[in-house]
Amino acid sequence: MAVLEIKNLHVSVADKEILKGFNLRINQGEVHALMGPNGTGKSTLSYAIMGHPRYQITQGDILLDGKSILGLSTDERAHAGIFLAFQYPVAIPGVTLANFLRVALNARRRAEDPEDKGISIVKFRQLLKGKMDLLKMDHAFGGRYLNEGFSGGEKKRAEILQMALLEPKFAVLDETDSGLDIDALRIVSEGVNTLAGKETGILVITHYQRMLNYIKPDFVHVLYDGRIFESGKAELALKLEEQGYDWVREAAAAQNPV
Ligand code: ADP
Ligand code: MG
Repeated sequence: MAVLEIKNLHVSVADKEILKGFNLRINQGEVHALMGPNGTGKSTLSYAIMGHPRYQITQGDILLDGKSILGLSTDERAHAGIFLAFQYPVAIPGVTLANFLRVALNARRRAEDPEDKGISIVKFRQLLKGKMDLLKMDHAFGGRYLNEGFSGGEKKRAEILQMALLEPKFAVLDETDSGLDIDALRIVSEGVNTLAGKETGILVITHYQRMLNYIKPDFVHVLYDGRIFESGKAELALKLEEQGYDWVREAAAAQNPV
């Protein structure tokens, strides 16, 4: 079974330390939710996991199956089975969603087997249609330019479609719920649940509890001041929904009086 471990992670952005000793262990098949006030470093964590050069790891390690991934490029991390659904996906005019996905899938296959000739167009279309049906997406979507003119909800669905095709070992969903209406939220969540039930370990990053009405996390963690402040089960997300983050701020202030 695959394990993603984040150990005593310190991450600085523009010379400011954002994560200050972050620890988390995710087993394949588990769903973890990471919640926290805006600006606490949730996206910083997701970028650090993917190896974004602006997010400097000054201490600690990220291990996939016991091996550090810090020396790997973003590409290599993706090929090793780590997937990040962006909070703000970029548009690529001139590249259709279907083409983009086929290139991504073939790159993944070639990383596993350098002799791989790539999936045939016919097979790919079948595979894509199946995954689109799972996410209740119009097949015509595949012919549109990647994220160009996509609504917020369509962008998020395209990210989840990519995840469904690549079947990563670990997926980080950074605020995938933002910009989704209730129907899209339910459909996207069902897609995530289908994958989570299989082999993927998932880290759902969210500010709000509402996505967790549809995706049942095994564990919920609260990020505050660069560390996990508290971990619990799904009830912790409900507590945050009812009480907001004020109690976290107060408890943190009580622990570290100025
Ligand atoms: P969250 O996702 O929890 O809202 P972020 O990880 O986006 O938080 O941001 C954490 C902190 O890091 C914020 O103070 C933010 O301003 C800062 N930060 C994030 N990315 C950058 C960047 N590229 N350049 C400068 N500061 C950044
Ligand atoms: Mg964020």
